[in-house]
Amino acid sequence: MADSASKTPGNVPGAWYVDTNCIGCSLCNGTAPDIFAMTDDGSAAYVARQPAVSEVELAAQALSDCPVGAIGNDA
Ligand code: SF4
Repeated sequence: MADSASKTPGNVPGAWYVDTNCIGCSLCNGTAPDIFAMTDDGSAAYVARQPAVSEVELAAQALSDCPVGAIGNDA
C-alpha cells in the first residue's frame, strides 16, 4: 500500500500520488500518460495531473497494475 508521507517529488496536490517505492517501470505512464509522468531521468513516476472523474477508472487500473504498489489514492 502506498504511503502518502513518502511521495515522489513532482506529485501535484490531491488524492492520487506515487510514493518512493516506485521503481520507474513506466507502466502507469503507459496506461495513463495524462496523469502519470516520469522524471527526466526516468527513475520514478509522479502524478502530473489529478484524474478527472472520467479518468478515475484508468488511474485505478494503473494503481492495480503497479508491480510495487507505489500508487496511492487517498480519496
Ligand atoms: S507502475 Fe508503479 S513502479 Fe511503475 S513507474 Fe508507475 S508507480 Fe512506478
